[in-house]
Amino acid sequence: MRTTTMERPVRTKGSFVPELVYFEPNALDYPKGQRIFEWVKETGIPYRMTTSHNRITNLPGETELEQYKIAKRTLVVGIRKTLKFDTSKPSAEYAIPIATGCMGHCHYCYLQTTLGAKPYIRVYVNTDAIMEAAKGYIEERAPEITRFEAACTSDPVGLEPITGSLAELIEFMAEQPLGRLRFVTKFHHVDSLLNLTHNGNTRIRFSVNSKYVIKNFEPATSSFEQRIEAAAKIAGAGYPLGFIIAPIIWHDNWEEGYSELLDSLAKALPKEASGGLTFELIQHRFTKTAKSVIEKRYPKTKLEMDIEKRKYKWGRWGQGKYVYPDEQAYALRMHISERIFEHFPDANIDYFT
Ligand code: SF4
Repeated sequence: MRTTTMERPVRTKGSFVPELVYFEPNALDYPKGQRIFEWVKETGIPYRMTTSHNRITNLPGETELEQYKIAKRTLVVGIRKTLKFDTSKPSAEYAIPIATGCMGHCHYCYLQTTLGAKPYIRVYVNTDAIMEAAKGYIEERAPEITRFEAACTSDPVGLEPITGSLAELIEFMAEQPLGRLRFVTKFHHVDSLLNLTHNGNTRIRFSVNSKYVIKNFEPATSSFEQRIEAAAKIAGAGYPLGFIIAPIIWHDNWEEGYSELLDSLAKALPKEASGGLTFELIQHRFTKTAKSVIEKRYPKTKLEMDIEKRKYKWGRWGQGKYVYPDEQAYALRMHISERIFEHFPDANIDYFT
């Protein structure tokens, strides 16, 4: 078994503490499962045993909405059985599964629909098997580089103080000449990652947005200032750094909002952070299913989801998405790209979608 230099995850102030934890009995056969179990007992968090992390049926709460809110504060510790990785275009070749679900309450989050009736947070303790599977994928594509995205179904930085899984992946990937890890976050709990050997093989991106979007649509995540402070630390630790501006939203005064975002980024980031910086730009989109789920879960949301004002984009797997009409999408893209190059002339915009 591979050993990691990190004995225990580092818990930082304000990091997530679940209100209820479920354990699959077999998860306790793994050191990570044991460690989380000990912490749960020490902290006095109520816990229950469950036969499968995919079947949590007895969550407390009277209404569906109450159950949803409780699920977002419920942690399930289990074993990842499927080691077949999903693809993860355009940001990487594969999604590497270390967690599913998130304690954030971003109104627009696609996990609302992709996780359906299972919004609780699952973390997997068999990281060694997951890394072995990643090795297989890397070998299959050699001599091409293979990139793995660790934040497709979760925000792993928010969970890092509990699991330590990212630290393990980062150190593993540091030893893979043809493997790259990447993840994106709206949380700031990066201190335990700063002293790891990463060999530049992990790119850490922070999700940022205009003040209006953060204030209205991203409850229960770290503040903009905390994210930027964390980004500066990540740059200081020599990691490749990036920003994802997503979802880009056409709100009142959006031009000022996004100009201000890029101004603040440029002011807050130390000089050395701007070398090799990447940006990924994703305009807001939704499906009909997402719209109805979001309206139920966040009935007072100001998120504009008027299909009359949008363009329908056919989806590869059936249900299409509503994006901004071409003219609006173009204006958003141009304005934000210009502000990026004004402040960060050497940055690369990986894509706008
Ligand atoms: S932080 Fe990311 S994963 Fe979590 S709710 Fe917000 S958008 Fe979703």
